[in-house]
Amino acid sequence: MKNISILGSTGSIGISTLEIIRSHPDRFRVIAMTAGKNLELLAQQVKQFAPRIAVVASPEDVPRMKELCCGLDVTVLGGVEGLIAAATADETEMVVAAIVGAAGLIPTAAAIRARKDIALANKETLVTAGHLFMELVAEFGVRLFPVDSEHSAIFQSIEGHRSEDIQKIILTASGGPFLNTPASQLPTVTVRDALNHPNWSMGKKITIDSATMMNKGLEVIEARWLFNTTVDKIQVNIHPQSIIHSMVEYVDGCVIAQLGTPDMKAPIAYALAYPERIATGVKPLDLTTFSGLTFSNPDNDKFPCLGLAYRAITAGESMPAVMNAANEIAVEKFLGGHIAFTQIAMTIERTMTAHTAHNLCSIEEVLQADIWGRDLAREICKEIGH
Ligand code: NAD
Ligand code: MG
Repeated sequence: MKNISILGSTGSIGISTLEIIRSHPDRFRVIAMTAGKNLELLAQQVKQFAPRIAVVASPEDVPRMKELCCGLDVTVLGGVEGLIAAATADETEMVVAAIVGAAGLIPTAAAIRARKDIALANKETLVTAGHLFMELVAEFGVRLFPVDSEHSAIFQSIEGHRSEDIQKIILTASGGPFLNTPASQLPTVTVRDALNHPNWSMGKKITIDSATMMNKGLEVIEARWLFNTTVDKIQVNIHPQSIIHSMVEYVDGCVIAQLGTPDMKAPIAYALAYPERIATGVKPLDLTTFSGLTFSNPDNDKFPCLGLAYRAITAGESMPAVMNAANEIAVEKFLGGHIAFTQIAMTIERTMTAHTAHNLCSIEEVLQADIWGRDLAREICKEIGH
């Protein structure tokens, strides 16, 4: 039996994680679960999975959550303290880090310090503070399992191989809903258009990141840290069918790929049960139903965010944290109807150009860079938005 805490249990990854746990009650037990604003869903999950701890992000929501959990044997906590308590609960062996955005940093760092293994969905953790997190992972001797489908694919494709034999990591990208939209139409696409991802059902923030291609940029940075490589060895291929989840090319010219129906339950289950493989209910892949699997290079002029991510990781230090912060604000403003789709990249670019990268020695310093980036991005959105 593996004891698990889920940070962000009410989100897309959290819900898929609970589906896997529900179908393997003999293997997994939920010790703690946390949510942002969706108290009703969290209360339902508490009834079903009977965790010892339930946490709401805002301390003001604790009384209401206690009401919703009336009669249940659960400790309700709130705020960052609560998230840390969920991440570090004594019995917990693995923490699923599935909070979206930089809000995931502090609880994930606390989990590592408490020597919990991590199933990492929250890519922003490695984007903003990759060097610090990888140092923590080494210092506390925990295992970090990727949940992001591309990184799970790479993880599966490098097993049993020597890292020095890797020539290249090839991340695949669906290209998102605007792959075939003329660049001239991008300034007027709607929020609804952008949320209409062709292959994956995900939270709103990552769905917009997929439409701008920033998601792939964040994933390049995530891969750089997870697999201890350099960005010149990471290449992005557009693969609209999302069947090959990523590939690794070796020095002998051989390429190893991982394929499957696009469903996050597969990489989540691999992280939860590693090294075992368990049933997921994911539809088996029937390659005969595809008329072709296609690949092309990304269009960096039409989707500038990917280039911005390469620029940020090449500058290093505080630049990726500032880029991530500007992206989080720009996506929020686009979702709120305050800026146009193409102004997301513009906001990030202007924020990065105004920033001089500096060394970050602690999570606190990362969060300071994050606040700096958010404040400037908010001002830029106010200036350029409507
Ligand atoms: P989501 O928006 O569906 O869920 C986010 C979760 O975090 C929710 O439980 C929400 O209540 C909680 N949350 C949000 N803000 C919070 C805050 N300030 N404090 C505490 N909790 C907060 O997002 P998602 O799609 O499940 O994505 C979660 C993470 O996983 C993201 O970093 C995303 O990039 C990554 N990821 C998601 C997918 C996917 O298929 N959804 C795939 C790969 C990686
Ligand atoms: Mg991904």
